Amino acid sequence: MKPSSKLVWAVVAAWLVLQALFIAIAVWMPDGANRNAVGNLFFCLLPLLVNGVLLSNATTANWRKNAFWMLLALGSSIWLAGQFIWTYLAVYQHQGPPNTFSAEVLFFLHTVPMIAALTLQPHKRHVESSAKFGQVDFALIACWWIYLYAFLVLPWQYAVVDHKLYLQSYAIISAFENLIFIGGATMLAVQATGRWRWIYASLVGSRTVYVVGLVFFKIFLTSPNTSRIRIESLPLIYCFLFLGIAGVCTYGDALEKEEGEAPNLEPPSAIQAAGESLWASRLARGALLSLPLIEFWCIKTRHVPEAVHSFRMMITLGAVLPLGFLAFLRHELMDAERLRLLRASQESLDNLKRLQTQFVQSEKLASIGQLVSGVAHEINNPLTAILGYSDLLAEDPTVDSRARSLAEKIREQARRTKTLVNNLLSFARQAPSESRSLLDINTIVNTAVQFRRVDLRGKNIHIDVQTSTNIPEVRADANQLLQVFCNIINNAVDAMNEVGGGTLTVRTLFEKGNAVIILSDTGKGIRDPQLVFDPFYTTKPVGQGTGLGLSICYGLVHDQGGKIACQNRLEGGATFRVELPAVSTLFSQRIGAPVSQPKPAKLA
Ligand code: ADP
Repeated sequence: MKPSSKLVWAVVAAWLVLQALFIAIAVWMPDGANRNAVGNLFFCLLPLLVNGVLLSNATTANWRKNAFWMLLALGSSIWLAGQFIWTYLAVYQHQGPPNTFSAEVLFFLHTVPMIAALTLQPHKRHVESSAKFGQVDFALIACWWIYLYAFLVLPWQYAVVDHKLYLQSYAIISAFENLIFIGGATMLAVQATGRWRWIYASLVGSRTVYVVGLVFFKIFLTSPNTSRIRIESLPLIYCFLFLGIAGVCTYGDALEKEEGEAPNLEPPSAIQAAGESLWASRLARGALLSLPLIEFWCIKTRHVPEAVHSFRMMITLGAVLPLGFLAFLRHELMDAERLRLLRASQESLDNLKRLQTQFVQSEKLASIGQLVSGVAHEINNPLTAILGYSDLLAEDPTVDSRARSLAEKIREQARRTKTLVNNLLSFARQAPSESRSLLDINTIVNTAVQFRRVDLRGKNIHIDVQTSTNIPEVRADANQLLQVFCNIINNAVDAMNEVGGGTLTVRTLFEKGNAVIILSDTGKGIRDPQLVFDPFYTTKPVGQGTGLGLSICYGLVHDQGGKIACQNRLEGGATFRVELPAVSTLFSQRIGAPVSQPKPAKLA
């Protein structure tokens, strides 16, 4: 997508105005202190203007894009800092042309954040890894370039003062640095599409004119004229204008919108992200490795004065420390990141296994439920007829007593079968309960216990209820909860009956936002704890157990957003734990719903 034509015209107009202004100063202002001051101020204002344009883009929701624009602006600001010092020396201190401008390192360094900006590749979609890597990489790149500058340029400024060699080595290293930038930006311009291609192309343009100006200025023109108002300064204006164009390329249509046009783009995986960061670690290793190689080259080729040689040796030794430290830091961060990824993948694997088990359980319940509901409906109709006819026969006084007693037996067996069929239908029911209300879990538990206590008289079985008072209410279906607790209590009573009696302890408590109900018995314990929630699993004799009770409970508790689990106790017996999400007191007050009294459940 091309920038809108209005914008292009605005940029061309600004370009022409600035050039005209520059030429006007050059032509009409007489040579001297005033012209020099105006020229320097002109070159202070130019990067300020460009910075404003660049930074206006750094307001997106994407940190990578923001960092890209900020790093470009930082580069321009470093150049501006050099220009400020230049202006201060030339305009206020009225110093003559310095042979070797001490703050020239700033002009050299201003490309480093720009190289770092390119490494962010903001046109791509990234998996966001730790930003610390980026900072360390940036510090490493900056350190290496400072080292190169100190190695090549500074000896001619401090060890043996040689203006010509200083200018030449400065031009060579700056050109090398800028060529790396141009190469990187060209590569990105080829890869990118739409406006990003325009942005990268503008950056290529900006650096190209900068290099042309630099080589021309430093190598071919060695006149001691420090005035900014001269023909050689024109490439600088073009350089900043290209940088400004890169900034305005985003105006009009937002880049975000352009990215939104590619909905099929898959977010990259963590492996891709790791691949992307490989180049950075290679760069770090390369930078560190370059030091002994340069030192070796230094020792082997001794065609420079002794002072320069010693200076370079010292600089190389000094650079080992910060570069080594940064490489070490990067390694440490990488190790920590790998460990984090390993833990995350282990966790995902565990979650996957857990999900798989749950999925198998749900699938099993769903398919059996479908089968059961079909069969149960088919059985229900003839069963209703059998019940009706056996009722008629059993109540008919004209029928002899033997036939009536047989009819009663048929009626009783038919009723048992009907109860079983109803249980099957209740198990197969898919729809969530519609009669939910805010319930006091202690009331429900007490009601369930009362139901069962009635027929425990004469048996050596006790039920001990220990309720906690500070449990918030739960939103659930009272009848279904009653069914769950009655079923668990019935099973516990059966298990304790088999060992001649015992105690069932029912405890309620509030834990991590859940109402928790723990039912522990002193029965014989569960034979296969992992199978009890499977439909039709029973250890009870034929006619006594259907094996559906706990699988129904499992469905009901999950239906209410809760969990049910069981395990054998070390001291003997079984424990069932039911967790139901509690509604916060505040929330329940806002709703103002009354606590409904549970109705007695109809149980098998
Ligand atoms: P049913 O009661 O019809 O057998 P359930 O689904 O309610 O069906 O229970 C399945 C099986 O779980 C029981 O047959 C029994 O073996 C085991 N079980 C359930 N609760 C307990 C308990 N408290 N102690 C020992 N075993 C139990």
